[in-house]
Amino acid sequence: MAPRDTGEAGARESSPVTVVWAYRRTGKFAFHVLTGALESDPRTADVPIEFSNGVTAVGEAIDRAVAAGRRVLVGWSFYSPDFALMTRELAELLPRHRAGGVLHVAGGVHATAEPAATLRAGFDLIATGEGEHLIRDLVLALQSDADPHSVQGIAWLDAAGELRRNGRAARANLDEFPPFGPRHRRFGPIEITRGCVYACRFCQTPYFAGASFRHRSVANVREWVRFLLPGGFRDFRFLTPTSMSYGATGPEPDLAAVEALLGGVRDDIGPDRKLWFGTFPSEVRPEHVTPAALELIRRYADNRTLILGGQSGSDRVLRTSERGHDVATIERAAALCVEFGFVPHVDFLFGLPGEEAADLEATFGLMDRLVAAGAKVHGHTFMPLPGTPFRKAAPGVLDTATRKRLLRLSSAGALYGQWQQQERTASELFRGQSSS
Ligand code: SF4
Repeated sequence: MAPRDTGEAGARESSPVTVVWAYRRTGKFAFHVLTGALESDPRTADVPIEFSNGVTAVGEAIDRAVAAGRRVLVGWSFYSPDFALMTRELAELLPRHRAGGVLHVAGGVHATAEPAATLRAGFDLIATGEGEHLIRDLVLALQSDADPHSVQGIAWLDAAGELRRNGRAARANLDEFPPFGPRHRRFGPIEITRGCVYACRFCQTPYFAGASFRHRSVANVREWVRFLLPGGFRDFRFLTPTSMSYGATGPEPDLAAVEALLGGVRDDIGPDRKLWFGTFPSEVRPEHVTPAALELIRRYADNRTLILGGQSGSDRVLRTSERGHDVATIERAAALCVEFGFVPHVDFLFGLPGEEAADLEATFGLMDRLVAAGAKVHGHTFMPLPGTPFRKAAPGVLDTATRKRLLRLSSAGALYGQWQQQERTASELFRGQSSS
């Protein structure tokens, strides 16, 4: 949909509903998108929405709504590493509100991949799949006293504790929804592509959002960019699984589509505002780094860093992870970036399944060569994420010697990232999955 005033009157409610987002930094853009979905439908545009950060704030928001005689939909959205924390927060809230017409609904990649375990942790319902259509349908069902189990994409436990599900939520056409919640002034990067044609075995994206690309049209992106301009926005960023795939249907980039996007947005924002592409919060696949692609980014975007997905310095590990590129491609991409005036930040995943001492040695060798050539290394530790082909693999573990080498790179300023924290989280996640 295009930006518009969404302040139309809401549908007549027989049961007034308040939506409370259990709002956290890590999942906030998902809540902004869901907020936009509610705002942009005249039937749900006026439902009150609370953005409650932290368990105390969520509890207070629920109390206020219950005291006002409203039904409450508490929305939770989290990634797998946060599941244990979210479960603890829910456990604090449940005893207070059991009798009060309060529904705790979990959505997102983890809940979709592990609905039974998530429900057994105490959530009332799971929203499986993408949330835009589902959240509207769920609010409408609650407002009209319809059975929430009738909503497409809802999963629940029956009286015998067995998982029941009503399909999976319909996938969204990005042009039909705002990229954020404009009426509530909840903004974020504009999602330009959803889904991914690649099948990297550690990644949840193709599982959750589908194995094909869905793109927001250039016209729609530009309308939202122009919507943001009067609000004083100076930085424009995009969300996509693979930046250079904008407009493409398969692995081959469509540079004309990328140029239409970047050139159009640049026309809209003028020379002084900043346009970011191929960098946080998105990245570029190494085989997409070509002189023509770099020329395009240099012409239209302001960033002079690019985030490249590398993942391993071992061709064997890249093959078993089904990354779809080899080590030489990573090195070539990094060298080209430097030649064109970009600092490549190359993502690595330590402890991928099947990684042996020789593979790790190859990864250190590649990292050293990349750093010597002018790159930085962004380190992660492998986590066996629910829904992925590697979900049953052992979590990444770094031995003492490896950790020391990584710390040396880190103190030299060549390596950054959450790899230490992720090693701890990966073990917790694995223990949680093994016991569920
Ligand atoms: S890691 Fe990137 S390229 Fe691979 S499947 Fe996930 S989103 Fe796609």
